[in-house]
Formats: sequence, structure tokens, C-alpha cells
Amino acid sequence: MNEERYQGKGVFGAIAIGRVSIFKRSEVTVKRERIEDLDQELARLEEAKSKSIQQIQNIYEKAVKEVGETNAQIFEIHMMMIEDDDYNDSIHNIMETQMVNAEYAVALTADNFAEMFQAMDDGYMQARAADVRDISNRIIQNLTNCGQRAEASGEKMIICADDLAPSETVLLDKEQVLAFVTELGSSNSHTAILARNMNIPAVIGVGAGFVQNIHDGDTMIVDGFTGEIFVNPGEETCRKYRSRQAEDERRKSLLQELKGKENVTLDGKRVNIYANIGGIENIGAVLVNDAGGIGLFRSEFLYLEKTDFPTEDEQFAAYKKVLESMAGKKVIIRTLDIGADKQADYFQLKKEENPAMGLRAIRICLTRPEIFKTQLRALYRASIYGSLGIMFPMATSVSEVERILDICGEVKKELEAEEIEYSREIELGIMIETPASAVISDRLAPLVDFFSIGTNDLTQYTLACDRQNAELEEFCDPHHEAILRLIELAAENAHKHGAWIGICGELAADTSLTETFLRMGIDELSVSPAFVLNLRDAVRKLDLSK
Ligand code: PEP
Ligand code: MG
Repeated sequence: MNEERYQGKGVFGAIAIGRVSIFKRSEVTVKRERIEDLDQELARLEEAKSKSIQQIQNIYEKAVKEVGETNAQIFEIHMMMIEDDDYNDSIHNIMETQMVNAEYAVALTADNFAEMFQAMDDGYMQARAADVRDISNRIIQNLTNCGQRAEASGEKMIICADDLAPSETVLLDKEQVLAFVTELGSSNSHTAILARNMNIPAVIGVGAGFVQNIHDGDTMIVDGFTGEIFVNPGEETCRKYRSRQAEDERRKSLLQELKGKENVTLDGKRVNIYANIGGIENIGAVLVNDAGGIGLFRSEFLYLEKTDFPTEDEQFAAYKKVLESMAGKKVIIRTLDIGADKQADYFQLKKEENPAMGLRAIRICLTRPEIFKTQLRALYRASIYGSLGIMFPMATSVSEVERILDICGEVKKELEAEEIEYSREIELGIMIETPASAVISDRLAPLVDFFSIGTNDLTQYTLACDRQNAELEEFCDPHHEAILRLIELAAENAHKHGAWIGICGELAADTSLTETFLRMGIDELSVSPAFVLNLRDAVRKLDLSK
């Protein structure tokens, strides 16, 4: 087989050598087909159902270990739904009366049941629509033998896909993924950010048609530094990349010597280096890389992992765990930032022309305060287990921040009335990720304890460049003077009003800007866990007195 080379954009610097697993979407197209032998078709259905139950049982057991029994309960519900009499009667009925294939009967039943649930008044029952679709998709996949990912084999694989939505990425079994390669995608997309958080080599934007040219099981080299991909590499290339891999590992192990050392420049300026995480499964990486705290916990991934709103108790358990694990170090949890590219069906958000500028993040929380309050209650309750900061995404005006603070006040009052404890030391902050908030940062700073600059969105909104659009990368320069001036303005205004300021967007890890940020007076830089020691290294080599 001839070696083939492709070029994309590296989003996490590391090298992977392994075998390909092509990502198969869970949605399969279901065709209506006439059948001759009903008994045979019913037996096929039964087999797919037992396989589905077995798979869910395995997921349930894994979830109990990772997130506890309460959080895992949804999978028990899924198993019960597969056995539900009404659901099964409907499938059998359609098959018998129309003499059609099981896939079709399951898909039609899923549609009917989901519509029925959605039409109910009760929010709990409405949310069951997503569950019935989920279990039905699994049965259909098992019927068609589609959607079985090669990573189930136990071997770590290189996942290749046309594109991966954040909700798809978050559901991949991290233990089984060696690297990511996608045809589409941009460096600031959440999928790229997740790859960085997962600490695995990732190359995106390899170009349309790439996946069609490769096969499951092909050998592949992924160079996350240069964005190069080699399919079925020759011996010479393999040798070269094995030696680069070893060199990279040597460099990373040298950085380990910086553990326990301070983030201080040669002339004595200190900065906090914190880590960004997407869920409790990243806490290990934060501790291993010796981050001083967590500067951004993207709480929306708790919602994306699920088929229904996480309950107050489920969220409380996750926040408590992260606070306890960080043992008194600062943990900044960002409230729900759903919408745009981060979609969960059960929110039933309307399709929008411009979702990045649509009903997302704090706008959802302010229009659906019951969702917001559930999260805030969980956060306040968890606050007694460590040093909590709460920050709010996408705020653009004084009145929005005032409304947010009012709702926090209401939540505190409710907890007090219920005699539920919460910490009085919680810091409240906002993300500066719109030009509006940077420009009026003098008005916002007196209202909060801290600012955290989200350079990913600040770049997209300031330069009018959709961060999801790979075609725009050349126009989307986060070093643009406009971005740097907005950051500087926010830093000046924060300090003038006694607030501190950090950066938690991807730019915080860009060591070519570390000196600029420190000269601006940035107090904290929050980066993917794997970048913490590299950034510490850069800080320790700087001399700001010159
Ligand atoms: C940002 O916009 O820079 C940020 C940190 O938030 P997210 O990437 O999750 O939108
Ligand atoms: Mg953002």
C-alpha cells in the first residue's frame, strides 16, 4: 500500500501512531421494507433489543464507577424503557399489520412516542422524548449493525470523522481514543478545545473527502504539531515519527521538573496559572500538571453528556467533587454556556439563522430562570467544600449583570430560608468575551470580583469571524491589535475598581503573548491542563524589568 500524506491544522501538539477507526454517526437512515417472514423479523428485533440492553448495562456500570449511582440512574431508566409494554406493543403492531421491517417499526414508534411526550404539560415527561429517541436509535443501530465503533475493541484508535459536534466528542470513550482527525473544523471550535483538554493529538480541517479515502484499520501517523497526516506510512516515515515521538516525550518529561515551582518571572512578578476543564474526568490532569486552580470549568458539558437536564443533586455532586479534589485551591465554574455549536436536544432551542449571535449562554439562563436557578443552587450548596468562583458567560450590559446578581441574591435567600449552608466567600465574575463588555468594563468592574477574558469568542465577535468556519482562519487573527487593546482596557478597568482579571480563552496558552499579558497586569492565565507547565516555563524565563 502506498503512503499518502494529508495536511490539516494541528490543534494539540503531540504525535500518535496507530490504527484508524472511522467515526460512524448514530443516526442511520431507516428504509421501509416489506417482509415475508414475521417470526424471523421478530427474532431479529429481540436479538437487537437484548444487545442494546447489554450495552446500556455496561455503560451503566461504568457510569456508576465514574459519576456515582444517582447520576447513572438514567441508564437504568433506558433499560426499562426498552422493556416497556406500550413501546413494544406499538413496534409489534406496526410490523404485523404492515408486514414491515423492524428498523422501520422502531423508528416510527420512536417518532410517535417522542411527539406524544413532547405534547405533555409536564417538563419531566417532555424530556423523555429524547430518551425514547436515544434507545430507539441504539436498537436500530444494532439491527443494522451500524454505529459500532471500532474503539470498543479495547485498542486505542485514531478517530477520523467528517466533523465532530461537541456532544459527540464528549460521548467518546476517552480511554479508547489515541487521536482525532477531522475533515472540517476550526482551531477555536469546541471540538478542538476538547481535544486539548483530553490531552491527545488532534488535527482538524484535513479537507472534504479525506474520510472516503481511508479505511477502518489503516495505519496512520498524526502529527498534532504540524497538522500532517500519513496514511499507511512507509518504514522510513514510521522510524522518523517514532523518534520524534520519543523526543517529544523527553521534552515533556523535562517540564515535569517544574512541578511544585512558582510561576514567577526573573524579576519577581507572579501570575496564577490555572487549568480549563470540561468535566470531573479532567481533574486528574489538573492535579498531575500542578495547576494552581481551575480557571474555567465549562459546566455545559455536564448538560451535553445527558439526555435530560441534570438535576440539582447531580450537579451538586459534580461541583462538590471538583471543589474537594482541588483541596482549597480556587475553582471557577462557569454557568451554562449552551447554544451555538453546543446543542442538547432536550433544551428544544429553536433553529437560528446566526446561532453564535443567538439565544445562547447567559441569554438562555435569563430567559429560562428555572434552569439557571437549579444550577446556582447546586453551586451555592457545593461552595462549602472549597474555594468557589462563579462566572457568567456572554454578559454584554450592566443591566444583565444586575439581573444575574439579583437572581444570585434570590437563590441565597431561598437557601437561607431552607437553612441550607453556603459559603459567604464565593467570588462572582463575568467573562469578557464580547467587545461590548470590554468597552464598558469600567461600568462592569464595580459589580463583580473578577473578569475572565474569553478570547475565543472575543476574537469571533470583534473581528466578525465565525469561530466554527475553517475558511476564515486567515482573517481570524487573535493577535489583532483590536483584541489586545480590548484586553488591556478590561485589565485597566478591572484594577481601577479592585477586581482581578484572568484570561481563559485559548490565547492564554500562547507563550508568544505571555510577556504582553503580564505587562498588561493580567493576574491569571487559565489553559488546558497539558499546557500548564509549558506556560510556567515561559513565565520563569521572562524578565519584565528590561
Ligand atoms: C472563550 O470564548 O474564549 C471561552 C473561554 O469560552 P468558550 O471557548 O467555551 O466559548
Ligand atoms: Mg466563549
